[in-house]
Amino acid sequence: MSLSNVPRVSLTNLPTPIEYLPRLSEHLGGPQIYVKRDDCTGLAMGGNKVRKLEYLFGDALDKNANTIITHGTSQSNHTRLVAAASSKLGLKCEMILEHRVDINDDAYLKSGNVFLNQFFNADIRYLSGDNTIEQELEKTAQAVLERGDVPYVITRGGSTPVGTFGYVTAAQELLHQVENQNLKIDHIIHATASGGTQAGLVIGLAEAISKIKLLGICANLPKEAQEKRVYNLALETMKLIDCGFNIARENVVVNSDYVGDAYGLPTKKMNNALLLLARLEGLLFDPVYSGKALAGMIDLIEQNVFGKSESILFIHTGGEPGLFAYQNELSVNF
Ligand SMILES: *Cc1c(COP(=O)(O)O)cnc(C)c1O
Repeated sequence: MSLSNVPRVSLTNLPTPIEYLPRLSEHLGGPQIYVKRDDCTGLAMGGNKVRKLEYLFGDALDKNANTIITHGTSQSNHTRLVAAASSKLGLKCEMILEHRVDINDDAYLKSGNVFLNQFFNADIRYLSGDNTIEQELEKTAQAVLERGDVPYVITRGGSTPVGTFGYVTAAQELLHQVENQNLKIDHIIHATASGGTQAGLVIGLAEAISKIKLLGICANLPKEAQEKRVYNLALETMKLIDCGFNIARENVVVNSDYVGDAYGLPTKKMNNALLLLARLEGLLFDPVYSGKALAGMIDLIEQNVFGKSESILFIHTGGEPGLFAYQNELSVNF
């Protein structure tokens, strides 16, 4: 399987580093914990979406598009990075945001990604009226065509088969690093939501016949629904490339025990996980995705789900700008 002929633009300096977390590992007294710094993908404060956008923008340019249309929740990291990539590549960007999380203070409505979105060339508006997001995207694409531009629509956090290529190559990159650095990794853990990150990793690990166990900790859907979403996306992605191997449904494992009340609403465990990582390792994570995944990892370690002598690689998917949006919801005291 090779993705070398698939259109791709360079938006980041790869590989992202893998770092050992000695103080967290010692504190939890269990597995050795490493972090892969996909928050450091460089573009406009980084995050996992940049890897997907390298392929999605490659596809857009290949199709001669000059206007990118995308959507997300108001504090979406994805929309920030689509806007930044559009600026970097000299493309127009139309962004449709949805206020879906029931937090209504000034910080949430105006700071974080909402603030950053405005720095780029994007035309930003909120979903209003009776249209569904699909109808609104369709209408926007139509208007772009009518003014003589060529639209390219990026849906669902870039978790389309083309976007998923970004995490197939991330898995290849990661396995290469693990081998070169003589690391013995038993588990990879990361936050999952729109599914492209996990689907790509599942494919990349299956290609290498890796024994590393992959666990996605979910930020929104129940376990079964998210596993299906990721599995189906992986199958669709594999149809686009010449894969000489299969993946099994059992390769997709999701834990949805750490969502809390709803997507985007803070939990006590997430808040504590953010403080623990900041105070032990000087690292920042985000409240919506990586923070809940960390809370899950820490809780599972405390329940002795992993062997004491095993090693875990946590993929930091970024999202730190979200911290500012949640400044009234997060406590900085343990
Ligand atoms: C989007 C996002 C995720 C989830 O990745 P998916 O590919 O959508 O499953 C995790 N962490 C952060 C910070 C994100 O922005």
